[in-house]
Amino acid sequence: MANKIDKHLLLNETQKQKLVYLIENEFMVEEYWGANQQSEAMKFLEQNNLLPQQISSGLTKWRTRNSRNDLKTMNKVLYQCTTGTFMSSRKDIKDTGKSQQQYKFTECLAFIEISTDKSFGFYIRAMGYLEHSEACKRATRIAPPVLNLHPLVKEMAFDLLKINASTNQILTDNQKFIEQKCNGKVIIGNNRLLLKALDITNIMKNFRKTYLNIDTRVQVENSSKQLFGNNEDSELKEACFHYQPKTTNSRLEIAISTKSQRELAWSFGHENILLLDGTFGICNRKILFFILMILDQQRQGIPIAYFIFSPPSQNKCTSSGYDHKILKKFFQKFVIALGKKNNILFSPKVLYL
Ligand SMILES: [Zn+2]
Repeated sequence: MANKIDKHLLLNETQKQKLVYLIENEFMVEEYWGANQQSEAMKFLEQNNLLPQQISSGLTKWRTRNSRNDLKTMNKVLYQCTTGTFMSSRKDIKDTGKSQQQYKFTECLAFIEISTDKSFGFYIRAMGYLEHSEACKRATRIAPPVLNLHPLVKEMAFDLLKINASTNQILTDNQKFIEQKCNGKVIIGNNRLLLKALDITNIMKNFRKTYLNIDTRVQVENSSKQLFGNNEDSELKEACFHYQPKTTNSRLEIAISTKSQRELAWSFGHENILLLDGTFGICNRKILFFILMILDQQRQGIPIAYFIFSPPSQNKCTSSGYDHKILKKFFQKFVIALGKKNNILFSPKVLYL
């Protein structure tokens, strides 16, 4: 049994001392279940209001404090009793204003960690302290239950995010859906249907984490290292032909061209015109962005490579953060990435800036 308090529990000093005592004196509950003991597991969870449907109803006092999907054989979720949740111990103060306390704080010590099998989803183990304090049992709600977003609405927003829709487009689409398909009703059972901008931010965070493997809570440098560094085997990695992380002495440099873009380069750019277009206000960081383009049969510009880089550290102004040298470096890397065809190196007739 773990003899330390999980750092994700939000506790004050008194609670911590009490829990340490309870852990050291083995007052924790620990249950194990095999694949054929799932009805026992469900019974135990139901008695403690811990079944998924009980928790998602928003009517129990359990709140998720941490969930881990990165372990090899199991997933783990940590729940804490909301009346024992000491909000001020939360580090990300920024978010606390958004989560409204629904019960008065009672110093209740109840928490539980539930592990499920990663492949089959059955319950493996529950460990924690399930004795709610007397004050907790008497505690009455001081705010109405939080209504969770309807899964269907979440899915619709998710689908729109996948095709790059803006927050405004998603909100408008959601309002139309409510007007036309739900007769203007915004609540069904314990679910709400009306999207808020904050919901989209949360769905977006989830999207980045699930689909792009980007955790927006960590530094940008770490995410880009993961995406473009040596340890990732993704489509993006294949397309990335040059990556240099930002250090005190060097700029961030990322160059991307997909396989089909490289083929287009050969078809329309070799011994032909290449266009290079620069833009600077693409995100809230100081980033320069250049797009290398070819002209196809219809004289339409098609991007064949992207050069992304930060200005030199002494530069205050992003727009003056490039010169002939850096663009030449990128272009040379691109020529190497294109390789040879019939023993000939890629060479455009004109590079037009
Ligand atoms: Zn409690």
